[in-house]
Amino acid sequence: MAVTDSITEQVLYDIAYEANRRAAIALPVDGVAAFRDAHEHETRTMARFILGQVLENAELAVADDRPMCGDTGLPRYYVKAGNDARIEGGFIGMERAFRQAVADATHDLPLRANRVHPLTRKNAGNNVGVFAPSVDYSFEPDADWLEVTVVHKGGLFGTDYRMLFPADGTDGVKRFLLDNLAAFARRGLSCPPVVIGVGLGGAKDQCVSLSKEAACLRMMGDSHPDPDVAALEQELLELANKTGFGVMGVGGDTTALDVHVEVAYTHTGGLPVAISQFCLAYRRATVRVEADGTFEFRDEPGWFTPYYRREGIDWAREMRPDEMQTRA
Ligand code: SF4
Repeated sequence: MAVTDSITEQVLYDIAYEANRRAAIALPVDGVAAFRDAHEHETRTMARFILGQVLENAELAVADDRPMCGDTGLPRYYVKAGNDARIEGGFIGMERAFRQAVADATHDLPLRANRVHPLTRKNAGNNVGVFAPSVDYSFEPDADWLEVTVVHKGGLFGTDYRMLFPADGTDGVKRFLLDNLAAFARRGLSCPPVVIGVGLGGAKDQCVSLSKEAACLRMMGDSHPDPDVAALEQELLELANKTGFGVMGVGGDTTALDVHVEVAYTHTGGLPVAISQFCLAYRRATVRVEADGTFEFRDEPGWFTPYYRREGIDWAREMRPDEMQTRA
């Protein structure tokens, strides 16, 4: 691929600012569809009323050009960089633009200045600080574009981790999900209905990260490409909604709008599992910037590509039976 252009810092600032604006204000299309569906099928009066209010609030936020929730969460970036992407000022320039965009969006929209020093509670007033906003990266072969997703993750409560034994299996995962929902969703602490991300496997940090990405960076209604994982997603979704906790924990048919499970190969001795809940302020915006600086906002975050999941790339060859015997 011939690459001659580079993406300028100004373009990156512009798209980051606009992505923060869109994320804060407008529910993504999959969010609108999921809330409408939940509202249509809700059988309990109070829950149906509240879901109607959520939908009305979403419309008013767009009409008034104001954030959909007074708590605007924690702005963060996910960047998928084409292997051939070229950036003026490099990634350092890009992150400078991203920080400035968060500070300006905090002032202009406004976003609530949520980011504080954890000990002193010092607040710079602009959502910028130590490790803030966070920027996570993934890469894509044969591409020269950048895809930037802004997430304003709410649901301060609702994320948890548990190390299971392999023998606990899917029953252990279900038990953990129920404990997690009882602890947070039942009391409205995570503002349900939520999108639940489940990380299964990997190491502890990877497991927790995967759960957050699963909650925030997949389209509602999609399924994992592995049929076993997809079946577990469906089972967990049905289980979550059988709890009857419902919107804001008032009792209702929809506690979870969707469940996304992401798996990573893990240590043979354990079954790490993490859960993240993405609250009803479902805030996400994605933009693709081409090598010539033109850009387009997209519905799909496009984060979980086959390459990102490392599907089908240069696996080490499998051991022969005689080699396995030697190891044993
Ligand atoms: S959890 Fe979500 S909906 Fe609830 S207050 Fe926070 S941002 Fe708003």
